[in-house]
Amino acid sequence: MAEISGLSIHVRGIVQGVGFRPHVYQLAVKNNLTGWVRNTSNGVEIEIAGNPEAIKAFSSELRKFPPPLARIDEYKENEIKDVLNAYAKFEIIESEPNPSQFIPVSPDMSICPDCLNELFDPNNHRFRYPFINCTNCGPRFSIIKDIPYDRPFTTMADFPMCPSCREEYENPGDRRFHAQPIACPECGPHIIFKSHGKTLHHNEDALQAAKDALINGQIVAIKGLGGYHLACDATNHKAVDILRQRKRRVDKPFALMSFSVETIQKYCLISPEERSLLESRQKPIVLLNKSSNCSLPDQLAPGQNSLGFMLPYTPLHYLLIEPLSGFPDTLVMTSGNLSEEPIAFDDLDAENRLAGLADAFLTHNRGIYMRVDDSVKRVVNKKAVFTRRSRGYAPDPFPFPFQTMPIFAAGAELKNHFTLTRDKYAFHSHYIGDLENFETLQSYEQAIEHFERLFRIKPEVFACDLHPDYLSTRYSEDRSHKENKQLIQIQHHHAHMAACMLENGLPSDEVVIGLTFDGTGYGLDSSIWGGEILIGDYSGFNRRFHLRYFPLPGGDTAVRNPARIALSILQTCNMDWDPNLPSVSQFSSKELHIIKNQINQKINSPLTSSMGRIFDAVSSMLGIRQTVTYEGQAAIELENHASVDETGSYEFILSGDIIDYQPVIESILQEILKGVPAGVISARFHNTVSNLCLSVANNISRDTSLRTVVLSGGVWQNTLLLTKTIKLLESNGFKVLTHQKVPTNDACISLGQAAIAANIIKKET
Ligand code: ZN
Ligand code: ZN
Ligand code: FE
Repeated sequence: MAEISGLSIHVRGIVQGVGFRPHVYQLAVKNNLTGWVRNTSNGVEIEIAGNPEAIKAFSSELRKFPPPLARIDEYKENEIKDVLNAYAKFEIIESEPNPSQFIPVSPDMSICPDCLNELFDPNNHRFRYPFINCTNCGPRFSIIKDIPYDRPFTTMADFPMCPSCREEYENPGDRRFHAQPIACPECGPHIIFKSHGKTLHHNEDALQAAKDALINGQIVAIKGLGGYHLACDATNHKAVDILRQRKRRVDKPFALMSFSVETIQKYCLISPEERSLLESRQKPIVLLNKSSNCSLPDQLAPGQNSLGFMLPYTPLHYLLIEPLSGFPDTLVMTSGNLSEEPIAFDDLDAENRLAGLADAFLTHNRGIYMRVDDSVKRVVNKKAVFTRRSRGYAPDPFPFPFQTMPIFAAGAELKNHFTLTRDKYAFHSHYIGDLENFETLQSYEQAIEHFERLFRIKPEVFACDLHPDYLSTRYSEDRSHKENKQLIQIQHHHAHMAACMLENGLPSDEVVIGLTFDGTGYGLDSSIWGGEILIGDYSGFNRRFHLRYFPLPGGDTAVRNPARIALSILQTCNMDWDPNLPSVSQFSSKELHIIKNQINQKINSPLTSSMGRIFDAVSSMLGIRQTVTYEGQAAIELENHASVDETGSYEFILSGDIIDYQPVIESILQEILKGVPAGVISARFHNTVSNLCLSVANNISRDTSLRTVVLSGGVWQNTLLLTKTIKLLESNGFKVLTHQKVPTNDACISLGQAAIAANIIKKET
């Protein structure tokens, strides 16, 4: 008798709803193995028996080449002794779910190459069917209401499978085996076109009507994977202008979609890294540098050197944007919302809220249960970094380096994402938005409830920001109070630093130098911090240096009007308001008088040490930007002006724990008045901030021998500053940690809060 051995395997990670079991089945059959595979409440269990060599081959192939959407976090195998032809065949067996267990849920994934081929294959019965999908692609997170991930618990519950879909669904050899959103023209959802009382239900008619509307310069609300987009012809200046007016979005860039990388190359420069990011399964929006002969309207991204492009990611997008004579090769695909409201995803809500914005709707009858915005990435130093981490990535959990009790971390006010932890996982939510209005707060609360149910998490500890007025702080206070749980309030910049430490996998006892630069964060002294050099670990920090304080005359008014910040900084540095300076000349003498009074008498002029605001002030002094319509605008335009090869810089003073920028501002003022070009001054200013980073790091290192520097905060979205600083620090022997898995802006805050809370609890117990 031939030698027989047996192996039992347990796999954890994203292994359900991604075609893992049929993959195992096919692999086992290929290797002549018998046994079974089943889903368990926290992964997949496999038992195989057969030739020892075949078992080895099976195991190594499974580990090396899991199905495309799967992610193996843990792989354990145990030899089974005394196997005597125990199984007649290999089969997929059912299993009982355990209600307290959880498994990670796959993010929504763009259409796979196989489905794309079928979509355009006239012989396929899903030819041109806008909802084609399989176990390797399609909606997941956005349609799941509860676990186990089974059709009745998704928004596909309304569509009973036809016999042909059912056959594929039940066939372990089929690509659609247990593909919960499986559908075909016979049994699945369909698209609907609506405009001015006209409604078209036939897929091709609806599609054609939407194309006609776009060709005619109209704005069409299009229902996608995680919500509605507002679309128009990106090459049509008039349509783009109308969309800006209706959306009340003055300058913020619009995202674009083209059919192929080749089309995008007509407008932007694409490196190999950017190309693979565009074509990746997640299909994020990728920020690309405009080529010098880019013919697209400037209003798509006023004042920017870059454009945000994505490729189609659903079959509907492909059908809509397929190359056709007369149809634009690029569409604006901006989020379907008014200004700062959350993106619309519920059909009735969308019809109400987008009625005044869109001329027509291209919608469908597959429900979206959870909204998910597009993700935004760019390539810096050949590495991909996030500006927004949402569709295609959320709710993929992060491995949490320490075991902890369940924690809810509320996140920041702007660009909110919350985090929930359990076991050794941190679930970082999809993008929620700016928690400044009722709609976004509602969306926040619904998402938290959903995550807690989906991943079976009952928070034992609540972590939030120190800011007493943040809606996220109030939410955490309320809940921790009602549920009688511990509340831990965490300083904003400490959370930034910890988030970056966590995503880089630093252990609990590591102490680092944190260069945390951003616009706004509530400080321990109740003033607005933002230019903070910290020394610390997960459980605490010491504010070693910070930018010299200056007032923000008018508070938020100053944030919207960088010229006011420039005036305040000049005043702080005891420098005159030279009437030749753009920051001064744009105000009347009466206005100048009022602002001076505000500053001197400390009327609504909170103190800040914000690095972001210094960038705003320099942008204003150079005449680049005096008022802003979105966060970071003045600084982005300042960066875009910088002459890249300039090596000069300005002096600054470190005194005690204060970084004094007085000499920097004085030199800038002199150079402006001497007529030195803005691009040169901008570059010298960037160089100065990099030098400052090295100087404080050296200073701390001398005292503490610390050599690891962590960069976090919105200011580090500045590519020029980031690349210069990393290079400078590394060439001086520092180890530099930056964000790659979450954005460096306030999106990362909740992850840091969770890490800090986990360590504080650990110390207490
Ligand atoms: Zn597919
Ligand atoms: Zn069907
Ligand atoms: Fe921040």
